[in-house]
Amino acid sequence: MKQAKFLVIGGAGYIGSHLVKALLAQQQQVIIVDNLSAGKASAILGGELITHDFEDRAFLDQLFKQHHFAGVFHFASQIVVSESVKNPGKYYRANTSATLTLLEALRDHQHIPLVFSSTAAVYGEPLYTPINEQHPTNAVNPYGRSKLMVEQMLADFANAHAQKYIALRYFNAAGADPLARIGEQHEPETHLIPLVLQAITGKRPPLQIFGEDYDTPDGTCIRDYIHVDDLASAHVLAMHHLINGGESGIFNLGNGLGYSVNDVIQTAIAVTGQDVPRSYVARRAGDPARLVADANLAKKVLGWQPKFSDLSIIIEHAWAWEKAQK
Ligand code: UDP
Repeated sequence: MKQAKFLVIGGAGYIGSHLVKALLAQQQQVIIVDNLSAGKASAILGGELITHDFEDRAFLDQLFKQHHFAGVFHFASQIVVSESVKNPGKYYRANTSATLTLLEALRDHQHIPLVFSSTAAVYGEPLYTPINEQHPTNAVNPYGRSKLMVEQMLADFANAHAQKYIALRYFNAAGADPLARIGEQHEPETHLIPLVLQAITGKRPPLQIFGEDYDTPDGTCIRDYIHVDDLASAHVLAMHHLINGGESGIFNLGNGLGYSVNDVIQTAIAVTGQDVPRSYVARRAGDPARLVADANLAKKVLGWQPKFSDLSIIIEHAWAWEKAQK
């Protein structure tokens, strides 16, 4: 991609910080806006950090007057499904309404292309797998709906104001920087791979496996784990596509490979050489048995190719990062 200046909202978070790294590797100029409510300044490997809430319209106006951005990446959001059920207002405010403010600011300043972090949660309980982008959207919790509403706003703004966008529907983001400089660091942590690895190190209690009676070969849920660096490379390609006059659109990002919770545990045991303290507990509400992506559209249209699709490599990188935390 041609050298230019990019804005990364939520660039101090898990996925955003890997995108910042990918932009820096291409010698791009990067401005990061993050309120550090969940992100960490230490996760930013370069560029300029502005610590501020992105939903402040006066701040955005000032920012867009001061800088000419070739594109905006938007990662900042609340992501805990169970919390979204208990406190939907927080999710519609932070994920939907705040993004509306951003869209209006973009509309009024130069129509800068936007790459948006969406989620496979927009599909809800799958009618078939692998899931392609034509699969009906039927988000089953406020988190998924808060993102789906943004996708709908994006389409309406594109239609009314020629505001270009790409929404990327992530399956299960996992892994870490291969050099272990940055990685997953959520609090609370709800994601399987860090919980497995932290059960090994003793940082967290033994893993609870949510359900062993699903209709899958080993009875545990199947997910599509995609390396965070592969997610980052897809964002760069998506922006490149828009800057070069490509159409707005929506793309799934996953490996197309399904691994069960037990597969993840067995792979973690093989990678670390240590057992995973664990027990089986009841199903977690709202977990579909199987979520696997059909990501062929991103491959075809964006020229995307995941580099780290092997689960062992994803877990090796996550493990190196986990050990670097001590
Ligand atoms: N999971 C589990 N125990 C945990 C956390 C997750 O058994 O402590 C399972 C969860 O039920 C799902 C898979 O691991 O089948 C991945 O969950 P995660 O929360 O990482 O991602 P999700 O697929 O829910 O977005």
